[in-house]
Amino acid sequence: MYNVKSKIAEEFISDSEIRSTIEYAAEHRNDRELVKKILEKARACKGLTHREAAVLLECTDTELVEEMYALAREIKHRFYGNRIVMFAPLYLSNYCINGCVYCPYHAKNKSIRRKKLTQDEIRNEVMALQDMGHKRLALEAGEHPLHNPIEYILESIKTIYSIKHKNGAIRRVNVNIAATTVENYRRLHDAGIGTYILFQETYNKENYQMLHPTGPKSDYAYHTEAMDRAMQGGIDDVGIGVLFGLETYRYDFTGLLMHAEHLEATYGVGPHTISVPRLCMADDIDTADFKNAVPDDVFYRIVAIIRIAVPYTGMIISTRESQKSRAKLLELGVSQMSGGSRTSVGGYMHDEAPEENSAQFDVADHRTLDEIVEWLLDLDHIPSFCTACYREGRTGDRFMTLLKNGQIANCCLPNALLTLKEYMRDYASPEVKRKGEAMIEKLLTDIPNEKARSTARKYLAAINEGKSDFRF
Ligand code: SAM
Repeated sequence: MYNVKSKIAEEFISDSEIRSTIEYAAEHRNDRELVKKILEKARACKGLTHREAAVLLECTDTELVEEMYALAREIKHRFYGNRIVMFAPLYLSNYCINGCVYCPYHAKNKSIRRKKLTQDEIRNEVMALQDMGHKRLALEAGEHPLHNPIEYILESIKTIYSIKHKNGAIRRVNVNIAATTVENYRRLHDAGIGTYILFQETYNKENYQMLHPTGPKSDYAYHTEAMDRAMQGGIDDVGIGVLFGLETYRYDFTGLLMHAEHLEATYGVGPHTISVPRLCMADDIDTADFKNAVPDDVFYRIVAIIRIAVPYTGMIISTRESQKSRAKLLELGVSQMSGGSRTSVGGYMHDEAPEENSAQFDVADHRTLDEIVEWLLDLDHIPSFCTACYREGRTGDRFMTLLKNGQIANCCLPNALLTLKEYMRDYASPEVKRKGEAMIEKLLTDIPNEKARSTARKYLAAINEGKSDFRF
């Protein structure tokens, strides 16, 4: 029985509700009137139900799809402007006791080199990331109670926040580790994490069990209810996602939106971010063995419709996607992007020789962070290294309320420009610096509030003089 507010996985992600949604959407795929009505509702930025979104996903009428794209762009601009928040993943350890059949960290893989960073190695990795200009990390680790217990993760977070190297600082550490207990979520919260990220992989229970045959992750309910426990542990910024390619996209798209609806209905705050990874080639993983690969055109529609359906949620694209695909997705509602990423353990300090492969998957975008910053500037997007909301306590419903009221626009633009200025001062190559300074000068005049504009000018001058870390 479907119950959006239930705390039981199979009730808030109801298989029969997903199946009947897919049927309903297929029946109405050519109903132009209905599609138009749904788009009209979406224009008010109040979001869509999973049923409405599923109808949009079925519609392939070129004109209506273009309308969806235009609306996604409009909504993105209304809430996020043309800012793109930059981050990088940091792989701590690839020891894992799970049996996920799509992930090369699975316990039976003997060809992958197992590695776990010591605190000294973490320091070196973080300094390398700081030297690139990163301020925001996503910690990644396999699940292993002996190698990667929660104490190791907590110690690593403490180490990362403590490193002050030149002008560098990691100001927000997001964490992507296996589902855990309320108590452990509380400890992560107390350690000052930003977002807790956990991908559902697939919402289809039967398929989930086949894809996760062994290890703690094989417990579908425990995994699916993880965000409820995270909320109970005090973490109010949670990031959800599915690994597209494991299950039919229709099923997981619907499940993903039902999960977002569940969090909003139950805790008054939806997911802080939604990630949309697609399955990649990896050490002993061949994507050809998975029959649900999502073609580019469908993937673009998925991203645009998520933007329309959950307008206040950040959307993340990793370097799993190529430059070409990232360029398209930028226009359809993505608000965060990784850059210069390494998916190997210790990969920022040392390039790995092919035989010591410890990477989780093959990235498709190999550009440096500076190249990505330049590319974004050329495309008229603002690369932002902002971490202000979380550090000012604007998390969970406080963040969402500000965003919904459009208030966030008064601080986001100046914050983006201030952090971009720091990047230009400390890390940019001369040509990027020229383009970045021009962008800052041009956009300063767009800060709506006069007082904020003059304060931003004052802060920018102070950054020029060597000071750092100003925020609104
Ligand atoms: N071990 C934790 C867990 O089980 O959730 C941490 C997550 S893992 C380091 C990060 C994510 O990478 C996984 O949740 C999965 O969606 C994704 N992933 C695994 N194998 C992948 C592959 N072959 N291609 C793309 N993404 C992959």
